[in-house]
Amino acid sequence: MILPPATLGMLGGGQLGRFFVSAAHEMGYKVWVLDPDPHSPAGLIADRHLIALYDDFAALDEFAAGCAAVTTEFENVPAGTLDYLAKFLPVHPSASAVAVCQNRIAEKTFLADNAIPHGPFAAIRDEDDLLQADPGLFPAVLKVARFGYDGKGQARVADRDEALHAFRRFNGEACVLEKMLHLDCELSVVLARDEAGTVRAFPATENRHRHGILDVTIAPARVAPALAARAREVAERIAGRLGYVGTLGVEFFVCDGDLFVNEMAPRPHNSGHHTIDACATSQYEQQVRALAGLPLGEPRAHSNAVMVNLLGELWYEGGHADTPQREPDWSLLHAVPGLKLHLYAKHHARPGRKMGHFTVIGADVGEVVAAALQARAAIGIVDGEH
Ligand code: ADP
Ligand code: MG
Repeated sequence: MILPPATLGMLGGGQLGRFFVSAAHEMGYKVWVLDPDPHSPAGLIADRHLIALYDDFAALDEFAAGCAAVTTEFENVPAGTLDYLAKFLPVHPSASAVAVCQNRIAEKTFLADNAIPHGPFAAIRDEDDLLQADPGLFPAVLKVARFGYDGKGQARVADRDEALHAFRRFNGEACVLEKMLHLDCELSVVLARDEAGTVRAFPATENRHRHGILDVTIAPARVAPALAARAREVAERIAGRLGYVGTLGVEFFVCDGDLFVNEMAPRPHNSGHHTIDACATSQYEQQVRALAGLPLGEPRAHSNAVMVNLLGELWYEGGHADTPQREPDWSLLHAVPGLKLHLYAKHHARPGRKMGHFTVIGADVGEVVAAALQARAAIGIVDGEH
């Protein structure tokens, strides 16, 4: 067991890392963050921020010397970086687990190899693969295999011709071609797994996206208990097969009542933010516990919760970045009973950038949903395509 006041290492300095730093601080640990961005949200509150690239080996040596164990908040940390650090100190999750989750071809192949339900897809490494792809995949979504997030690096394509155009637009980078599914809804399961293989899963959540970015999470998901239980079983199976240690997010599609895994995130997940305010243990505390070898906490939800993401466009009059940036009127949110506002201290608001979120908690799920959607409208988030 790694006990306070030991120093824990975090690769990546985004909001997920920032919440990890807060959770670790609450528990008496120190945290060093390694992230190239001098203004990174986690770096700002870390005990030490190493401003360096993930493949800067001199910085990694210093990081390894100063930390007792290392984790990540960012799936695109090079697997080689995790492997290198693992020579000197415990690194969780492992390079091999992160490698599966950071490449859509490896991820889909892992699902197929383990007979885990997933949508129809083809790996596209060159134009030939596209020419030979099953016609039944169209209409489809073409996604770059690496470095896509929040709907970036994705194109919806009606047919093979459009797919070829999109593939060229992505500079011929390796992709997956996924059949476009008609979604009843989207779910996710966030869980934590320790080195002994004990798993603690949070109740499944229901996620609504807007323009490919998570907009609203409703916890627990308003679906049949059997479906939520199945999602949880599948997520646990994935964690086991990956030999995963840490906090893992698994995203699901529900189509005609069937469950398909969409993707995995080897880190806390945006749809688990509500666990800070609504659960006995947050997904970030679980990440600290798994990393430090402490017993995992109780994931039980003490409240129903709805989380709403606050994206950069909210910082501009009318949502257009050609007007001066200004602060939204937070007093409108603080007036709502049971609403908890979290802001990430990002300096520049770019449309689509995750700047903060709020969670409304309460005893009645209907009331919580209504209050959160009302607050969402009051702060100026305009409804559009979901
Ligand atoms: P990201 O890494 O950006 O989260 P995802 O693959 O999860 O990428 O896609 C983002 C969102 O786009 C999904 O949550 C879903 O709403 C939609 N989407 C992605 N793939 C499909 C698909 N095959 N069929 C229908 N909708 C999809
Ligand atoms: Mg996703």
